[in-house]
Amino acid sequence: MSGSEPLLRVEGLEKYYESESDFIDRLLGRQKKVKAVDDVSFEIHEGETLGLVGESGCGKSTIGRSILQLRKPTAGSVYFKGQDITTLSDSDLRDLRKEMQIIFQNPQSSLNPRLTVNDIIGEALDIHGIEGDVSRDARIKDLLERVGLNASHANRYPHEFSGGQLQRIGIARALAVDPEFIVCDEPVSALDVSVQAQILNLLEDLQDELGIAYLFIAHDLSVVEHIADQIAVMYLGKIAEIGTPEELFAPPQHPYTEALLSAIPEPDPLWDGDRILLEGSVPSPIDPPSGCKFHTRCPRVIPPSDYEFEQEEWRAVMSLRHRAREEDIAVETFDDGAPMEALREELDLPSTLSDPEAERVVQEALRSVADEEFGDAESLLSETFDTPCSTDKPVLRETDAGRVACHLFDPAYEAGPNDGTTTGDGPAAGSAASGDD
Ligand code: SF4
Repeated sequence: MSGSEPLLRVEGLEKYYESESDFIDRLLGRQKKVKAVDDVSFEIHEGETLGLVGESGCGKSTIGRSILQLRKPTAGSVYFKGQDITTLSDSDLRDLRKEMQIIFQNPQSSLNPRLTVNDIIGEALDIHGIEGDVSRDARIKDLLERVGLNASHANRYPHEFSGGQLQRIGIARALAVDPEFIVCDEPVSALDVSVQAQILNLLEDLQDELGIAYLFIAHDLSVVEHIADQIAVMYLGKIAEIGTPEELFAPPQHPYTEALLSAIPEPDPLWDGDRILLEGSVPSPIDPPSGCKFHTRCPRVIPPSDYEFEQEEWRAVMSLRHRAREEDIAVETFDDGAPMEALREELDLPSTLSDPEAERVVQEALRSVADEEFGDAESLLSETFDTPCSTDKPVLRETDAGRVACHLFDPAYEAGPNDGTTTGDGPAAGSAASGDD
């Protein structure tokens, strides 16, 4: 990456929404905030691609739209060519949109079915008053050829094209105004695998030819591996890890990146780990987990130092704690004769834990669960078994291989490899930062 001023610099970007609430909650001012994007920073240089990857609902598309000011950020700055564009007037933003474009995920729904291709691409030229040395028709013909179509396609309607061809039209429309930066919002996820490769190659060729920078959003690491200069992995509105593909893939540092990489159907040749199945689904951004937002699913969540846990035992105890908090255990379905055994099986808890004292506490918690006293079980487990993962928010720290937000890479927590150095962009390491997100 070059050391010059980046084309795009995102600093502390936040986008919050008011959650839907009932009349009483609104009356009592109890409306909660959905933190779709929570303090995100990164840079993209001219002609480079940043891949933004994460599961559905992690906030990656919201970042793309907030950068383009299609959604007003709640806080933070977006610098384009050194200027903070979050403060621009509507008319200045209109001018800026010539330089910043978007390619949408679903070409079928993003192209007006009543317009010909000529009108779709020409509309972009008209809106921005683009005139040049060549005629409008010649320019449209040139754009169609650039994206692998031909002039005869100009008079057809969207329904006459395949999904791949429609995406090529979407790309031609974005290129029409000569942008320097394009948000590619999952541009290949609605396409067949064979067509995906063609569109990725096309975007790469266009970047080489025209020097455009991309923010490339995807839910699959394998899609961005070859196209991105840097990859940022997101979880619940925050960046978990960011680095070059080489740094991220060999081997990944953050446990979430590790799980995403292991889920690729044909694992990367550089990856030699086992498939990691994450438990449960992504928690709600309305009430996200405290501390590290990934702690409710993390296979490497840090165990308490006062107890002797096998890692899998500890993961199972953390899942019990989380499910007790969520009251997500259907106690009535367990066998009356041996409810404890059934509960343990359901929760993947071994029949006895290695540490006798830990076993005693877990048995007490299980009895509370069996009595549907979920709050008691959750309090007992969280008060007895202390982990920084559920109390302290990790911050992105420089390591030898990119930046990672995980206590395992923070020298202040002795459980990890301790090979990180602080960037000073968060609360003091090891401080009992508020777990209240
Ligand atoms: S901080 Fe803890 S829970 Fe979060 S990713 Fe690291 S080990 Fe897992």
